[in-house]
Amino acid sequence: MSMDRREFLGSALGVAAATGTAHAGSRTDAKSYSERLQTPVVGHYQVIVAGGGPSGVIAAAAAARSGASTLLIERYPFLGGNGTAGLMTCYNGFRNQRPPEALQTVKGIPAEYIAELVRLGGIAEYDPYPKAKHDVASGDLPYCIGFDPEAAKIASFNLLKKEGVTLRLHSWVAAPMLDGARVTGVIAESKSGRQAIAADIVIDATGDGDVAARAGAPFMGPADKGDRMNMSLMYVLGGMTPSMQDTGGIRLGDRVVKWGPGSGGDCLDVENLTRAEVDTRLELWDQVQTVRQQPGKGSVYLAQVATGIGVRETRRIEGEYTVTEQDAIQGTRFADVVAISSNPMPSYHGQRFFFEHEGFDIPYRSLVPKKVEGLVLTGRCISCAQGPFQSARSMAPAMAVGHASGCAAALAAKDNVPPRQLDVQALQKLLLAQNAELRRKA
Ligand SMILES: Cc1cc2nc3c(=O)[nH]c(=O)nc-3n(C[C@H](O)[C@H](O)[C@H](O)COP(=O)(O)OP(=O)(O)OC[C@H]3O[C@@H](n4cnc5c(N)ncnc54)[C@H](O)[C@@H]3O)c2cc1C
Repeated sequence: MSMDRREFLGSALGVAAATGTAHAGSRTDAKSYSERLQTPVVGHYQVIVAGGGPSGVIAAAAAARSGASTLLIERYPFLGGNGTAGLMTCYNGFRNQRPPEALQTVKGIPAEYIAELVRLGGIAEYDPYPKAKHDVASGDLPYCIGFDPEAAKIASFNLLKKEGVTLRLHSWVAAPMLDGARVTGVIAESKSGRQAIAADIVIDATGDGDVAARAGAPFMGPADKGDRMNMSLMYVLGGMTPSMQDTGGIRLGDRVVKWGPGSGGDCLDVENLTRAEVDTRLELWDQVQTVRQQPGKGSVYLAQVATGIGVRETRRIEGEYTVTEQDAIQGTRFADVVAISSNPMPSYHGQRFFFEHEGFDIPYRSLVPKKVEGLVLTGRCISCAQGPFQSARSMAPAMAVGHASGCAAALAAKDNVPPRQLDVQALQKLLLAQNAELRRKA
């Protein structure tokens, strides 16, 4: 059953009608509140991408390149997600960090994005695996690429502009629009008020799986204890002269991006997030003052702190298939492979676990949430056990998954088929035509 997309789906959202009387002389009264609840539908796209992190940016570019009218909605006034807002300025996982690393597992549109970063002069001095030589400028990418976060914001804009993606920044995706179990668009909150935007297919690129969870998809995680990955506040030290002994970090001229204080708790709880921001920012300030007091370090200063504390682990949405720890360790091959993750599992039972193969397959089914229609997952919320999540959440594989989710959403929208029933061979063919690496011939 299809619903008129021009209608407000208030009942599906559980939004109650506003009642009340305006007080004399007041300007923001019940009437305007009521009007705000009559959410207008301000647009319709074949594909909406909710979230503009590394995965969402590539997903939007892929959907548009595959012929779908595409809108990307992002809460911040810039793109790049944890790579820019979180200042996590090294893209890990273009290939295995150790032998066997001959296969570059992330290519296609993510590699084009890196080429744009190279063109902008946005590559930083950082190489955690210096033995291997790669020619980044020609698309031969090492395990890890350090980058300038400001260049990454520009490279993301340039990529999406080139592909004709429509952008809506400064906008929170507050809820999915629903027709029963089918996502039919999103509700966004911004300075323009509460607006609905319809879509044939929505891609959840929020990292936290906000859209999927609010649409009723079941989810796992985060891990209760053990390998659970904490939050960290990244920062930039300025005034770092070349002669200065550096204790690690990603160098950008006289600035060095560094890993700052960590924090735990529920990263979806706003009170915990508030506490974590305050605690880590105060701690960081004190740490930097201590550094400044060291001999020869008087020129050092706190040049920049991440827009928000970096969140590593929240929901993993349950999909039609959940990639298991054994799949990742053994390198299980799936007939419906749409991306490959070769990144190590960085805190597997407390240690960095390197794969003895060139990368494990991510099957299309792990991008399709259970119970909800019209929605495709991407980035760190795809359906994985906690071990493979640690690997695939890294930004290079997250971009490869974005490439797959964007192509899948475009095909589903154009062929008018639910993502669950998509012709996976057609998807693989499209990905190979866009130079993705699937260990298959085009
Ligand atoms: C401290 C830390 C260190 C890390 N180290 C590395 C590393 O060295 N290398 C590496 O490759 N990876 C690293 N990671 C992991 C990596 O950064 C993330 O897993 C990755 O960015 C996930 O990509 P994503 O696109 O799925 O999500 P994100 O990067 O989180 O992007 C999600 C985007 O959606 C937006 N968004 C979220 N909710 C909404 C909403 N409701 N409405 C509108 N917009 C929304 C966000 O603002 C953001 O732009 C690290 C992570 C952390 C936190």
